[in-house]
Amino acid sequence: MEDPRRSTPRTDRVLADPLLAERVQALGTSLVKRTVAAVLDRCRRGELGPDEVVPAVLDALPDSACSLRAVVNATGVLVHTNLGRAPLSEAAVAAVAAASGSTDVELDLATGRRDRRGRGAVAALRDAVPAAGGAHVVNNGAAALALAALALAGGREVVVARGELVEIGDGFRIPELIEATGVRIREVGTTNRVRLDDYERAVTERTGFVLKVHPSNFTVTGFTSSVPVEQLAALPVPLVVDIGSGLLQPHPRLPREPDATTTLRAGASLVTASGDKLLGGPQAGLLLGDGDLVERLRRHPVARAMRVDKLTLAALEATLTGPPPPTVTALAADQADLLARAHRIADDLSADLGARAVASTAAVGGGGAPGVELPSAAVAVDPRLAGPLRTGTPPVVGHVERGRLLLDLLAVPPEADQAVVTALRRAAKLLTGADPGAV
Ligand SMILES: *Cc1c(COP(=O)(O)O)cnc(C)c1O
Repeated sequence: MEDPRRSTPRTDRVLADPLLAERVQALGTSLVKRTVAAVLDRCRRGELGPDEVVPAVLDALPDSACSLRAVVNATGVLVHTNLGRAPLSEAAVAAVAAASGSTDVELDLATGRRDRRGRGAVAALRDAVPAAGGAHVVNNGAAALALAALALAGGREVVVARGELVEIGDGFRIPELIEATGVRIREVGTTNRVRLDDYERAVTERTGFVLKVHPSNFTVTGFTSSVPVEQLAALPVPLVVDIGSGLLQPHPRLPREPDATTTLRAGASLVTASGDKLLGGPQAGLLLGDGDLVERLRRHPVARAMRVDKLTLAALEATLTGPPPPTVTALAADQADLLARAHRIADDLSADLGARAVASTAAVGGGGAPGVELPSAAVAVDPRLAGPLRTGTPPVVGHVERGRLLLDLLAVPPEADQAVVTALRRAAKLLTGADPGAV
């Protein structure tokens, strides 16, 4: 028998294969080289024949140069933190692509002069929220709050209700974020109740502003009270409201979720919010409100460290001016339509997979509209499919409930339904080893 080490092709010969040369164009040399080296090792050990090297390399290479993968969110959580929160609209994706090369982000092409960075996104925000005298965009909601603390209360105090000292997620807490800027927190009220006179007694000449935080990921029920924006706005210091989700107008399905327009009309000086929760845009932090205050934030030295890149500005503007993004469309989805889609998917699969269309309950998630139940529909299947679906291409992530895997369709764009069918067939085949036709 021939020594496999002698018949193993040389690295440069393998790399010269036109199919691999094409992958080098897409993925870069080092990743392809590393993969070739690993496959050639297997060839030397006699695990592969020389003719099998190129197909094995192609098989082992990822689809793109980035490890992040497009995932089908069938979790029934609309804004899923672990899945990147809001999916961008097609208009936003196109805007990102257009801005990804050289772009006029800070140049007025008509005059050839430098222009204000992000002017298009800011104009779109002000059009969307006419109640805001000014608007500024930073990296995320937490940055918006930190900038407000630094610029409006630096070295002084912020008054906030004890029941609004929220942990946003991954161990990050709003009071700790604010204290990290050197601003003292002056807590008022108790866990469940706070009154206007609590605030009145706490506001002194050391107060930078009163902060109202939307408890966006929990609800407190029972003997509770908080002070509405209208009343807090009458205090002799600025009122900053962290609304969290980025809802710009009231939403009929989310009656308790604060929005920027209503909050500013009620007298808030400044609203902070995320761009990628219920607004459905890119990750960003929005600052909307009093023109002079926004200008002070914009001029603060730290604003430069929180500056958003051109891709965020592009996606945000297109989200605001273009057709509704997927999050907004999904929020308005009709349960009967979702059920019809679930039936079509279940009917497309063979009976022995046991897939059934069921009514389900989805949630907003991601720090928005806690406790709100969104009527939805799901395809219920064998829970053992969860693993193979998650590790397939594209990965499909559902959730197991009462012994069934539910693939909830609220956050699944209708154009991905066929991909769900294909993924289910493939996952079932892996599970049973059966012919895909039989599933
Ligand atoms: C989500 C959230 C934040 C943090 O926003 P990021 O964009 O995640 O930084 C702050 N405050 C509230 C009330 C939130 O819901």
